[in-house]
Amino acid sequence: MAKDAYDEAIAGLQKLLSEKDELKEAAAAKVKQLTADLAGKAEAAAAKVKELAGGAVKPAAEISDPVERIRSGFEYFKKNKYEKDTELYGKLAKGQSPKFLVFACSDSRVCPSHVLNFQPGEAFVVRDIASMVPPFDKTKYSEAGAAIEYAVLHLKVENILVIGHSCCGGIKGLISIPDDGSFSSDFIEDWVSICKSAKDKVKSEHSHLDIGEQCNYLEKEAVNISLEHLLSYPFVKQAVDSKKLALRGGHYDFVKGCFQLWDLDSKDSPITI
Ligand SMILES: [Zn+2]
Repeated sequence: MAKDAYDEAIAGLQKLLSEKDELKEAAAAKVKQLTADLAGKAEAAAAKVKELAGGAVKPAAEISDPVERIRSGFEYFKKNKYEKDTELYGKLAKGQSPKFLVFACSDSRVCPSHVLNFQPGEAFVVRDIASMVPPFDKTKYSEAGAAIEYAVLHLKVENILVIGHSCCGGIKGLISIPDDGSFSSDFIEDWVSICKSAKDKVKSEHSHLDIGEQCNYLEKEAVNISLEHLLSYPFVKQAVDSKKLALRGGHYDFVKGCFQLWDLDSKDSPITI
């Protein structure tokens, strides 16, 4: 009941009460009922606020102590997700059969489970600088190779999705490597050079654009090189050729709030979501 309506009802009852003595008892009962009704609604509203806050006293991101942040994060997950979906977590305790292998950047703003709403068990995820997939190389890139091998041969994923994103620091690092090819970092420039051919393409086709705009092209071209690199893994090529596996590229723009999706055949006409 809205406060105005409540006040109006009370005022009406008080008027009746002053005019007719015989109504006194009935009016008192009515006032009692209305007060109880209002108190009940206030209690329910307070419970709803507590539920929406997940029982946390402070929003998680405001907790500065790292151990407390981890404790509160897990307690929130356990109470609000794990214990509320016993069917899903019971099923996942027995195994996983994700349909997607996802390559996403390590950037803290682009978690694919958040951006694409993947639920636990749906996506096998590799996160690295600039979401790059290296070419097949048993000695140099065993980490990425192991993840791809496990996902394709053992989990038998049906899709591989490589997601680039706006304002990617790794892509800025790639475009900033001097023309003489000299590196000033121990690992970063060597890693992002995996997609050097994408940089060369953007530099030759869009040299008139400023660096920011070139980066925007490079974020997508690097994804295309990663898709090509995936085909250098014999088991990926075989699964793609037998139509058991589809490769797709994506680009998440968190400035504009949009997502583009394409495959190697439609890279010049992506779907914009
Ligand atoms: Zn990035």
